[in-house]
Amino acid sequence: MDTRKVIIIGSGPAGLTAALYCARANMNPLVLAGVTFGGQLMNTTEVENYPGFPHGIQGPELMQAMVDQAKRFGSEVIFDDVMKVDFSARPFKVWVGSQEYSGETVIIATGASSLWLGLPSETKFRSKGISSCATCDGFFFKGKELIVVGAGDAAVEEAIFLTKFATKVTMLVRSDKMRASKIMQDRVLAHPKVEVLYNKSVVEFLGDQSLSGGKIKDNVTGEVKDMQFGGAFIAIGHKPNTEIFKDQITLDQKGYIVPADNTKTNIEGVFVAGDVRDFRYRQAVTAAGMGCMASLDAEKFLAEHERRV
Ligand code: NDP
Repeated sequence: MDTRKVIIIGSGPAGLTAALYCARANMNPLVLAGVTFGGQLMNTTEVENYPGFPHGIQGPELMQAMVDQAKRFGSEVIFDDVMKVDFSARPFKVWVGSQEYSGETVIIATGASSLWLGLPSETKFRSKGISSCATCDGFFFKGKELIVVGAGDAAVEEAIFLTKFATKVTMLVRSDKMRASKIMQDRVLAHPKVEVLYNKSVVEFLGDQSLSGGKIKDNVTGEVKDMQFGGAFIAIGHKPNTEIFKDQITLDQKGYIVPADNTKTNIEGVFVAGDVRDFRYRQAVTAAGMGCMASLDAEKFLAEHERRV
């Protein structure tokens, strides 16, 4: 079996930028891209905040361009899911089905998935009025009344950000208190454009072609009322995609990889980039930046260990 200089697991902006840099450093990267490649941008329509595209670009188009660019310099890309890893010794082992691959270094860039409410009507209106990223999509909701579902720091941040565009933002908190830090709560509660409603849950989104409102349940009385709004942002957390690493890589309580130092993990030679370690910024451009950093760190590691394959 060939041992690769670097195996990259994941194919969002972090993984594909790592692949581009590794390929251009003659490291012949193997990218295990997943069956559904491209990460969260594959579920996005217009991306207007990725530098270099003054008129915006469709998320899937941007990801396909990143794949093409990584391949152009010699990255091998396999569109299949990694089932298992063994990082107990170098070279590291990675399995795709029964196929085993081995790598002198590994870059983990498996990303995170937004959590959704799980309502059928939510699926229907995703990208047609329902979003999970205010930074990405807020601009499209100028002059509308919006709701934000969730009560953590992210929900508060999204609500405040959305006031730049919305006429009014209503936060729906499912219990009688917010989970967000005190300072964030104070900020949102004092904001003139934000109303916070406690003990409220969306039970159905309403609309014809696009979203026009929803049925809101009071979790104390059980009463359900219709509410009009032009957009909904779901900010109930993210789940990092770390299941296959959990016994080998140090994770925090929520499952995010804890970096030992920049892109290094607790295992020498295994690096990490993107949303799988970053719950704060979560932007395509920050993930891409980390992918670049991880590739440079992997290259340096290989040079230092002089174990060329
Ligand atoms: P959190 O897990 O902190 O909060 C999730 C929120 O969503 C909770 O209030 C939870 O309610 C609510 N929720 C979960 N499921 C549902 C549901 N089905 N319906 C309605 N509400 C639901 O996630 P965040 O993304 O907000 O934050 C993740 C981490 O990132 C945190 O550690 C946070 O502090 C950090 N962060 C920090 C920021 C900053 O410092 N500026 C900005 C953004 C995030 P309940 O409380 O009832 O469980």
